Formats: sequence, C-alpha cells, structure tokens
Amino acid sequence: MTIRTGQQYLAGLNDGREVWYDGKQVENVTTFPPFSAAVRSTAMLYDLQHDPRYRDVLSVESPELGGRIGRAYEFPRTRDQLRLKREAYIIWAEATCGMMGRSPDFMNVMVSALAAKQSFFAEFAPARAEAIVNYHRHIAERDLFLTHALLDPQLDKGKRRDQQSDPGIPLRVVDRAKEGLVVHGIKRIATAAPYADEILVWPFPPTFQVGEDAYANVFAIPMNTPGLKTLCRPSFAATSESRADHPLSSRFDEMDATVIFDHVLVPWERVFLHEDIHFLNRMYKDSRMRELTAHQTNSRLEVKLGFLYALIFRLTEAIGSDQKSDMMEMLGEAVACVEVIRSTTRSAEEQATVDPENGVMYPDLFALQAGRALGPVYYPKLVDMLKRVGGGGLIQLPVSLSEFDSPIGPDLERSLRGANSSGRDKAKLFKLAWDVCGSEFGARHELYEMNYAGERSALLAGIQREYGRKAYYSAFLDKFLEDL
Ligand SMILES: Cc1cc2nc3c(=O)[nH]c(=O)nc-3n(C[C@H](O)[C@H](O)[C@H](O)COP(=O)(O)OP(=O)(O)OC[C@H]3O[C@@H](n4cnc5c(N)ncnc54)[C@H](O)[C@@H]3O)c2cc1C
Repeated sequence: MTIRTGQQYLAGLNDGREVWYDGKQVENVTTFPPFSAAVRSTAMLYDLQHDPRYRDVLSVESPELGGRIGRAYEFPRTRDQLRLKREAYIIWAEATCGMMGRSPDFMNVMVSALAAKQSFFAEFAPARAEAIVNYHRHIAERDLFLTHALLDPQLDKGKRRDQQSDPGIPLRVVDRAKEGLVVHGIKRIATAAPYADEILVWPFPPTFQVGEDAYANVFAIPMNTPGLKTLCRPSFAATSESRADHPLSSRFDEMDATVIFDHVLVPWERVFLHEDIHFLNRMYKDSRMRELTAHQTNSRLEVKLGFLYALIFRLTEAIGSDQKSDMMEMLGEAVACVEVIRSTTRSAEEQATVDPENGVMYPDLFALQAGRALGPVYYPKLVDMLKRVGGGGLIQLPVSLSEFDSPIGPDLERSLRGANSSGRDKAKLFKLAWDVCGSEFGARHELYEMNYAGERSALLAGIQREYGRKAYYSAFLDKFLEDL
C-alpha cells in the first residue's frame, strides 16, 4: 500500500506514453510548459497527504484492503465516514481554489463506487465483477491518478454510432482475442489525460440503441498502453514568471484531450462490461456511482463558489461600492448560491441510507442532484457578478505588477488607487478577477461548470423521472384535494 508523494507521482509519468501537442509529440510531460504547472499542482495535492495537518483526513487505514489508502478509495459505511470524505475533498479543493475539477479524488471515488456495486457487474458475468474489485484494489494500493473519457466525437448527433458516415470513428470493439478485447476509435474529452496514470472508459449518455453493442464497453488501461494517443487542446496556462499576474492560470490549467485508440488491446482483467447495450444503459444509475461522485463534485464546487463570492465582495470594497444597495443585493444573492451548494452535501449526508446489498452508506441522491443541476446556473451567475462589479477596472491593468517598480510606477499607483487600498493591491485583486472572468482559462472554467455533469436538460429530465419523493408530495396534494 502506498500513499504517494508528489515526487512518486511525477516519477511514474515518464513511461513512454504518446502525447501530442500542436502537431508534435511531447517528450517529457512533467516538464512540458503547457502542462507542467498542472502537473506540479497535482503533485502538490499528493504531498498534502503527508502533511501532518491533513494526513488523518486525506488518508485512512482500510481493514478491507489491508493498509492505508487515500480517503476517496474508502467504502463509506457510516455518516462519519461520509463527513470525512467531504472534508478530504474540501482540503484538496481549497488547495486549488476549486479550479481543478478532475483532481485524483474524483475518479478514485468513481472507481470505488463501481467496485462497491460489484453485484451489478456480476449480473453480467462473475469475471467482470472480479475485474472491477481487483481494479479498485490496484489503484488504491498504488494511489493512482485516473482520467476518464465518456463521449464519442460529436459527428452527426442525429444518427446512431453505427449509422455515422464512418462508423469506425466512435470507439468500438473490433476484435476479441484470447488476451482481451481489441478496441479502435476515438473518445473525448479526457481532462488531465496527458499526466494521468490510467484512463477509465465508459460511454455516456446511457442511451444506446439496438445495433450499437460494439460501442458499449467499460474498461481501464494505463496511459502508456501501445496504440493509445492523447491529443491536446491549446494550453491556457500562463507562463509568466510572476504568479500574481496570473494567479490561477499560472497554476491550475488542467489540460483537456481527445484520446485515440489505434487497435488497442485491453486485457480481460481490465474489461468491466462489454458489447451489451442493456447493461450499459443501466450502469450509470444501477452502479450508484452518481451518489458518491456528486458528493465529491458538489464539495469542490462549494469551495469554488465561496472563492468567487469572496472575490466579488473584495472588489466592491476596493472600489467603495460595498454598501450600495444594489451591490448588497447582488452579494446576498451570491451568498445564497454558495449556501445552496454547501447544503447539498451536508443534507445528502444527513439523509444518507445504507444499501443492505453491500452495506455502503450512500448520500441522498436528490439533495446532490440539486447541486449538479444548479451549479451550471450559479457559476456563470457569479462570474457575471464579477464583471458587473469590476466594470472597466478589469481591463485597466498593467501588463505586470512589476510595473509598479518601474519609472512609471508612481503614475500607475495614482491611476489605480482603490477606496481603501493601494494601486498595487487593487491591481493584484483585479488581476485575479480577470483570470476568473476574462482570461481563456476563465472561459474554459465557465464551459466546464456548464458541461461537466453532462447536458443539463438531460440531467433535469432524469431528476424528474427518478425523483424519490414524488410519491410523498403527490400523496400530500391528493390528501389536500380530498379534504376540500
Ligand atoms: C472543460 C471540459 C472538460 C470536460 N472534461 C471531461 C472529462 O474529463 N471526461 C469526459 O468524459 N468528459 C468531459 N467533458 C465532456 C462533457 O461531459 C460534455 O461536454 C458534456 O456532456 C456535453 O456533451 P457534448 O460536449 O457532446 O455536447 P453536445 O451533447 O454535443 O451538446 C452540444 C449541443 O448539441 C445539442 N445536442 C445534443 N445532442 C443532440 C441531438 N441528438 N440532436 C440535436 N442536438 C443535440 C445540445 O443540446 C447542445 O446544445 C468535459 C467538457 C468540458 C467542456
């Protein structure tokens, strides 16, 4: 069993993987400037596991696995274990201001959820249940960092996968060998793929139709598997020497990538479901992965929204608008957004129930789904508030804060002075705000929050379809009508 340090994480990355950036193959992903900052930030998260202040929350002794594991790998069986999971998620999220959506805990809790529901995989075949349980042990023992890729290329959304002009573009099984499945095709969008250890593939949304069995597969492989290629988007990482000029984009730009599988052999022990549309359509719901992953994603979002709220508030103070009634109203609305998301995890823990089938305590799905549905609305709303509060001040900024030490410094100081802060301090704050609401990094984050939980209309329709308190509220209404 290993609780990795940042150094151990870095050492595992130079493994011959094939990563492409701007038409060239990347030689060393740990030092390549477009992702070196994100790699360093991920290493920093691993190091936090050894910080005596956080060690007992971020990791735990596991009697089930026989050693110390990262908190996200634990199967929660009590309310207290759920609370500690949330506290662990929050420690890592605070270390990145909530800006690294795909920190290792996200995928680690996802695989833990799948392994906890091994009975679902056993329905398909006992060997597949054994495979998912062993995979959970494999990543927990080594403290690995996973990425995942769920979607097919956009292609023609009006057609099934097998009806596309080239049905070989979406990832599918092309051969079954004695050693495993051979898969070929493309998946997207795998955030952190260039510097993750392994990739989990499963298809989403779960709307497979007859004829699409070859595309319905769940498996995991290391990022250096022969035939696996990673293609990156343009980096939004600021490479400036000065962290204060680009406080977030200089550290937390997670790379997003397309993954191409060129006749890749997936060994049977890493195949969890294959070529079965009925099981694939059931997996998202019946594996109960949503309860455990949304507990992590809502915890992270709480941190990010809280960070934005504080920034909006500080901006109003910096320009002396904090007591204006319309600003107070706006700030109150920002607080309400933070508190709603914050409440979803705590409410879900309070209403958690034990699944008698596996003894795992699951946080309440509907409390968590409320956060997933509202996050894509709240985040852009708070970004918009930043723009409204900051006004033209967001663009009236020096190239670098070091200009304050240049001959033009005194003029800069006079032109940027705040209500109760120096020009330099105000510029520092506004540069942070620009990183959130004006930079390419900021734009990517808005897109991320609006999309990471899948298409929102489908999410909302699913909430209505499955809502567990529907009968309760309907009966209440019926009783009222009867009594009239
Ligand atoms: C920054 C970022 C990071 C991400 N990271 C990950 C990751 O780590 N792993 C991962 O697997 N995914 C990741 N995603 C993908 C994310 O889950 C998807 O972007 C999201 O589910 C939306 O799917 P899509 O991109 O295919 O958009 P689409 O579904 O193509 O939506 C685009 C538009 O098409 C419309 N549309 C959709 N289907 C149809 C149809 N059948 N007919 C007509 N119109 C249609 C939609 O309503 C929408 O308006 C990431 C996305 C972003 C933006």
